[in-house]
Amino acid sequence: MKVSIVGTGYVGLVTGVCLAEKGHQVTCIDIDDEKIGKINRGIPPIHETGLEDLLKKNIKSRLQATNDLHGSVLATDITLIAVGTPFDGQRIDLTFVEKVAQQIGQALKDKPGYHLVVVKSTVVPGTTDEVVLPVLEKTSGKKAGKDFGVGMNPEFLTEGQAVQDFMQPDRIVLGGMDEKSIDTLSRLYEQFAQVDKLRTNNKTAEMIKYTSNCLLATMISFSNEIGNLCSTLGDVDVVDVMKGMHLAHYLSPILPGGQRVPAPINAFLAAGCGFGGSCLPKDVKALIAHGERAGAPMRLLDAVIHINQEQPKRILTLLKKHFPSLKGIKIAILGLAFKPDTDDMRESPAIPIIKDLLAQGALVKAHDPVANREARRYINDDRVNYTDELGEALSQVDAVVLVTRWEEFRKMPDLLAAMKSPPVFIDGRRMLDKHAIAKYEGIGL
Ligand code: NAD
Repeated sequence: MKVSIVGTGYVGLVTGVCLAEKGHQVTCIDIDDEKIGKINRGIPPIHETGLEDLLKKNIKSRLQATNDLHGSVLATDITLIAVGTPFDGQRIDLTFVEKVAQQIGQALKDKPGYHLVVVKSTVVPGTTDEVVLPVLEKTSGKKAGKDFGVGMNPEFLTEGQAVQDFMQPDRIVLGGMDEKSIDTLSRLYEQFAQVDKLRTNNKTAEMIKYTSNCLLATMISFSNEIGNLCSTLGDVDVVDVMKGMHLAHYLSPILPGGQRVPAPINAFLAAGCGFGGSCLPKDVKALIAHGERAGAPMRLLDAVIHINQEQPKRILTLLKKHFPSLKGIKIAILGLAFKPDTDDMRESPAIPIIKDLLAQGALVKAHDPVANREARRYINDDRVNYTDELGEALSQVDAVVLVTRWEEFRKMPDLLAAMKSPPVFIDGRRMLDKHAIAKYEGIGL
C-alpha cells in the first residue's frame, strides 16, 4: 500500500521504517526539517535498537521523508496521524492532532477516490469520532463513511525495543468507523498473518490503549507502595516479597512438564524510584481527567499518580540516612533516561532526583550510556557535571545513585569492590544483589 505518516517521532518513524520493511511504500511527514534531512540521509534522529539498519536499508527505495503533507496525502491510499498528544494539566492537548486533521482534510478536498485516515496517536476515548472525523468532514467538504474512512490503530511499542515490538507485535487493534475502514486498515497489516487482530470501533480502540498503560502504571505504583511499607516495617525486603508473589501460578504458571514460565508483567511488579517516559504518566493523567469530566472519577488511578510523584523523594531519604546534610556531598547519578535502551528523558525520575539534590547543595555528576545529550536539554542546569565514562562518574564521589536499569551497571559490584573506600550505593531499581555491595541501600529494603 502507499502510506503517509504524519509526525516522525518515536511512533511515526518506527512505524514508517517497519512498514517500509514489510513492503509498503511509505512517506514520513514532519514539520521539523532537520529530522526530515536526517531521515533522508539514513540517520535516525532517535536512539532505537535496530532502527538505523532498517532505515538505511529502506530509505530512497520504499521510504522517504518530506514536509509536504498535501502532496503526500494525494499520493497515498492511507494516512496515519502520529503526532504528539501532551497532557496540559487539564486534558490532552489535541492542538497537533486537530491541526494535522485540518491539513489532511484540505488535501482530501483535492483527492478523487477513497482515502483512509487513521489516528495512531494516543487519544482519549471519543476523540477520533468526535474531534478528528468532524474536522476532516468540515475541511474536506466530504462525507466520512462515503468519500473517506476514519480508523484508530493504537501503538503499543515500548521505547528501546520499538522496532522489535513493531515487527513482532503481541496484538494489532484495528479500530474503524465502519467495516470498510477496518478492512482497509487491515490490509496494512497483511504481512502480520500470525498476529492476533482485534476489529473494533474507534472508541474501544482508544480505550484499549489507555487501559493497557494504566494497568502497567498501577502495577508499578502498587509495588512501590508495598516497598515503602516494607522499608518502614524493617526486617522485610520488597525484593523477597515480590519474588514470593511472582511464584503464584497466575504470575508464573507451571507447564505440564513442570517448567515455570514467569509472566512478563512481573517486570512491572517490582519496587523502584518511579515510572516516567512519554506515555505512562501522561496517559494515566489524561484518563483521570477524562473520567472526571465524564462523571466517573478514577480514585485508583489518582493514587497511582500520587504515589509515583512521591517516589523519587525516597532516594533523598535513603541518602539522608548517611548524610544528614547533602551540602557539598558528591553524588554520581547512574542512568538518566526514563528506562534503559533509549535516550528519551521525558518525565524521567532522574529529573526530580537531580533537581532535589541540587536544591540541597549536593554536587552532582551524571552518567548515562546514551542520554547525556538529551538530559542536558531537559535538566538545563550547568551545575550538573555529565560524563560519558562510567569510571569517571564513580571517581571521588561520596554516593552513587542508580536510577536506570542499564545492563552496563551490572558490573557495579566489581567496580565498587575494587575501590579503596567505596561510596554509599543507592539502588533506585533494586537491580543489584544487596549482599554484593558494601554500603548498599535500596528502595523497599
Ligand atoms: P514525538 O513527540 O516523538 O513525535 C511527534 C512528531 O510530530 C514530532 O517529530 C513533531 O515534529 C511532529 N509534528 C507535530 N506537528 C506536526 C504537524 N503539524 N505536521 C507534521 N508533523 C508534526 O511523539 P511520539 O513519542 O512519537 O508520540 C506520538 C503519539 O504516539 C503520542 O500520542 C503518544 O502518546 C503515542 N505513543 C507514544 C509511544 C512512545 O513510546 N513514544 C508509544 C505508544 C504511543
